[in-house]
Amino acid sequence: MNLVVMKFGGTSVEDPAAIARTAAIVAGRVADGKNPVVVVSAMAKVTDQLLRAAAAAAQGDRTGALAISSRLRSRHRDTACALVKDAAAIAALVQVIDDKFDALDEVLRGVSAILELTPRISDLIVSHGERLSSRILTAAFRERGVNTEHVDAREIIVTDSEFQKAAPLDDIIEKRAPEKLLPLIAQGKVPVMGGFIASNEAGLTTTLGRGGSDYTGALVGGALNAATIEVWTDVDGIMTADPRVCPDALRVRVISFEEAAELAYFGAKVLHPATILPAVKKNIPVLVLNSRNPGCEGTRIISVAPHCKSPFKSIAVKKKLSIIDIVASRMLMTHGYLSKMFAVFDKHRCPVDMVSTSEVSVSLTVDSNSSLPEIAADLSQMADVKYEGRKALVCMVGEDIRGQNGIAAQVFNAIRHVNVRMISQGASEINMSFMIEEDDADEAVRSLHAAFFKEPDPAIFDLEARKQLSAVTDR
Ligand code: ASP
Ligand code: MG
Repeated sequence: MNLVVMKFGGTSVEDPAAIARTAAIVAGRVADGKNPVVVVSAMAKVTDQLLRAAAAAAQGDRTGALAISSRLRSRHRDTACALVKDAAAIAALVQVIDDKFDALDEVLRGVSAILELTPRISDLIVSHGERLSSRILTAAFRERGVNTEHVDAREIIVTDSEFQKAAPLDDIIEKRAPEKLLPLIAQGKVPVMGGFIASNEAGLTTTLGRGGSDYTGALVGGALNAATIEVWTDVDGIMTADPRVCPDALRVRVISFEEAAELAYFGAKVLHPATILPAVKKNIPVLVLNSRNPGCEGTRIISVAPHCKSPFKSIAVKKKLSIIDIVASRMLMTHGYLSKMFAVFDKHRCPVDMVSTSEVSVSLTVDSNSSLPEIAADLSQMADVKYEGRKALVCMVGEDIRGQNGIAAQVFNAIRHVNVRMISQGASEINMSFMIEEDDADEAVRSLHAAFFKEPDPAIFDLEARKQLSAVTDR
């Protein structure tokens, strides 16, 4: 068997034309003698709209919630009808769609009656996106000559009961995936399943967290020991910088898992960071590919990247951050102080991105969020606290900065006109990050790119197509 997991993001299945392209891509793999397993996201924007319907219902806006659902019903029906012409097949598919929306409407009415939306019910509501898209794909592919079989992802991806961000139970998945999928593949079938959705051991629907379809792809790929995991999106791959900001950005042809993970954490939208883990464990290469440009070789993510002449592979930026300065001359560096401080962030469920300390102060960066005033109020019981928004974190990643002298000097020289706040070189030694004003971020990226990608290594970067890429990000 030549197993390949093909994960398609929301934009790859956003409308009939996109789904038809996706079908042709999968048919191409089959023609090449590969055995695909298809994992699909909800159609673009559907997850957001389902969450909006859920929120409306929770506020008692039953009409609003049902109106969103009704628009989604039409969109899914129309998509199905545009793709599936066989009379029996489309009748069956429309029936499936209607049944799912009827069930969804029941739940929305219930929520609007009791005015309470639990994480568990939210997952049930939001799961409809992938449950529907996977059904439509199964029928649309079949009509295009791909011998598909729908598989309910919830029978394979079993998780704990942490609704909305459930953790997969690897042992069960390792067993279930081959059990359910291999017999189908042996019969020459292409299994099609939804990403993102899962169930707990009691069979209740859970989800892996936003963007979680990549995770499903990697879990399935890992459990089946697939030869590759393909992540199909709407960009040509990982870029040296955001091409909307930096028109000279180049496609990175090959990158290590570690580098890709750093970039993902720092906001490169191409890939969910957790995708990396199940694939890394099994040493399975992940390919990031563009369903609008399937001829492009994309970016190959592998465990050990080949040596690159330039120190960096990519520059990522995370905006909308806040910086919190905590000054506590007397208490700082007494034992237990940092843990008390972090307990405050924990209490507000606020993840911390970057930390830097001096003898008397600690600076932290967090995503700008509404609980900052409360966090500051809690912290001010132990120290003086200031916080400021509109910051950006610039993260430069590359395995080849390890042990190289003078890189930091080159970086800060390239942006000497910009005011740099916090600097960190993580323990991984492959990223250099620093905090600047959000308004300076785009210009800083362009200056850094000009300085470090002057003579890019052709083995690592695609010099041929200095392309403008679609500005749309996947989801
Ligand atoms: N549909 C889900 C989301 O939008 C999962 C995914 O697309 O990966 O978050
Ligand atoms: Mg997505």
